[in-house]
Amino acid sequence: MDSTLSKGYEPHEVEKKWYEYWETNGLFAAPEESGQSYSIVIPPPNVTGVLHMGHSLNITLQDILCRYRRLCGDNVLWMPGTDHAGIATQNVVERDLTANGIDRHQLGREKFIEKVWKWRKEKGGAIINQLKKLGASCDWDRERFTMDEGLSDAVKKVFVQLYDEGLIYRGNYIINWCPRCMTALADLEVEHEELEGNLYHIHYPVVGGEKGPVVATTRPETMLGDTAVAVHPEDSRYEYLVGKEVDLPLTTRSIPVIFDKYVEMEFGTGALKITPAHDPNDFEVGRIHELPSIKVIGDDGKMTAAAGKYEGLDRFECRKAVLKDLEAQGLLVKVESHNHSVGHCYRCNTVVEPNLSKQWFVKAKPLAEKALAAVKDGRTKIVPEKWENDYYMWLENIRDWCISRQIWWGHQIPVWTCRQCNEIIVAVDPPDHCTACQSTDLVQAPDDLDTW
Ligand SMILES: [Zn+2]
Ligand SMILES: [Zn+2]
Repeated sequence: MDSTLSKGYEPHEVEKKWYEYWETNGLFAAPEESGQSYSIVIPPPNVTGVLHMGHSLNITLQDILCRYRRLCGDNVLWMPGTDHAGIATQNVVERDLTANGIDRHQLGREKFIEKVWKWRKEKGGAIINQLKKLGASCDWDRERFTMDEGLSDAVKKVFVQLYDEGLIYRGNYIINWCPRCMTALADLEVEHEELEGNLYHIHYPVVGGEKGPVVATTRPETMLGDTAVAVHPEDSRYEYLVGKEVDLPLTTRSIPVIFDKYVEMEFGTGALKITPAHDPNDFEVGRIHELPSIKVIGDDGKMTAAAGKYEGLDRFECRKAVLKDLEAQGLLVKVESHNHSVGHCYRCNTVVEPNLSKQWFVKAKPLAEKALAAVKDGRTKIVPEKWENDYYMWLENIRDWCISRQIWWGHQIPVWTCRQCNEIIVAVDPPDHCTACQSTDLVQAPDDLDTW
């Protein structure tokens, strides 16, 4: 053996040897005998994941705690596992298929899911090996996967329980929609990018031809779905609009002018177009004023029949066509360059479309109240304290959480509809007949649950 010490630390000579020694001697296994219990469940990394700084940080901290507790003589279990990562994994497998000229719809749900399991068996272990390289002392024999039978049962059980408690509901709501992945996304799955764009000022004449308000928008194609123009009730510039309607350019519709304190008088012209089907704030305004919602952009990112002569155009092509037509009619008053934040799908980078859609939601308010109270009463402390306000801001303004995804890889929503009487049955085990009419003609909701 070489007796000279190398100048630096040579990890390969040391770490591999000792990690193998620890593992083969079962030193990470939770002992069965009693002792004070101490356990940590790993926040499961995505099965598609590769090691990043966040893993290194949180894994190191967990490892320190577990090793310290073992030295104290505790009965320690550090429980490892991985997350099936619905959209991410589905996209990886879909990319492989596309490279071979196959569309997942040609395969069908069952065959596609088989392919995903195969992928997970062959390639899904990378992140675990990387955690081992970090030295993580998890009890690897107990490794679990979020699609395991046991965990899948737990997901269904919680869904049914929350539904029974009135905390899960199905409804029409504005959600973030990716027209490429063809699925809803949670707010956290949307990445915002500051982009150079334009603010288009458009004149909406009062019915009868009188000069009307000018509204400004970054997405002029959505105007085809406008169902009102909103102004502030104390804005003297718009007093003349009380009780009036305006002609919605490029359509045959006229829409009401509504008065709402939500409008900021100082912003732009002080007049807002209201498109309940394509903007979350407009959706709220629309609800209060009982406005109709007209969906002009379809789930595939193309204009719907409600868009009239623009039907079938891609949303960005439609933008160009709308601008050209507005200009020809003298209704495009001004174009201002304008930097604004645009949401992109976190998996495929497509521009996300706020879209009205029937989805499943978790009521966030009653859950947020408890979390708010915990900090307000001092039971939980935010460190550093300066983030306390952000925490309050976030939870006081929280919106319901969209939990359904239009993908195949994941936990299918445990809800069945009776084809005979439309009864909805929410159950852990697949029901064999309708609880209302006894029919056996039941169909399960095709959507998956977002479980992260
Ligand atoms: Zn996408
Ligand atoms: Zn029935």
